Amino acid sequence: MSITAEETRERMEHFVEACRRAGVKLTHQRLEIFREVARTTAHPDAITVYRGVRRRIPTVSLDTVYRALATMVELGVLSTLGSSREKVRFDANTRPHHHFVCVRCGIIRDFYSDSLDQLATGEELEDVGRVESAHVELRGICSNCASQAIQD
Ligand SMILES: [Zn+2]
Ligand SMILES: [Zn+2]
Repeated sequence: MSITAEETRERMEHFVEACRRAGVKLTHQRLEIFREVARTTAHPDAITVYRGVRRRIPTVSLDTVYRALATMVELGVLSTLGSSREKVRFDANTRPHHHFVCVRCGIIRDFYSDSLDQLATGEELEDVGRVESAHVELRGICSNCASQAIQD
């Protein structure tokens, strides 16, 4: 699943700008590693990013990919999803958005919703803290998996 070339370009510019501001060296490898996350809506994990980058840069190591992704998260150009270390997935979409997770194939898709952005929470959170933003994760069967189920 790919996004528009225009959107990828915007994400790349955002990354280049963030590196420049933070004084992080913009290497060819880092650029290609970021591109691998930025060009897709699939929220890839580190192994998937590594496999994609290796097709263009055969000498890249998995360790380099891990470290570069960690740097990008620190820079705020990527966010992470998931909890266990192996299954951390990376997201180059820095606009406020929500996720639909398919419980069958594991695909994670972005979607936008004004009402979810302004999720009304009441007194149940009073003792917990003040809400600054909302991220909702919905789980279900994606349309792709649903149509396969019909064919089976
Ligand atoms: Zn699915
Ligand atoms: Zn996302």
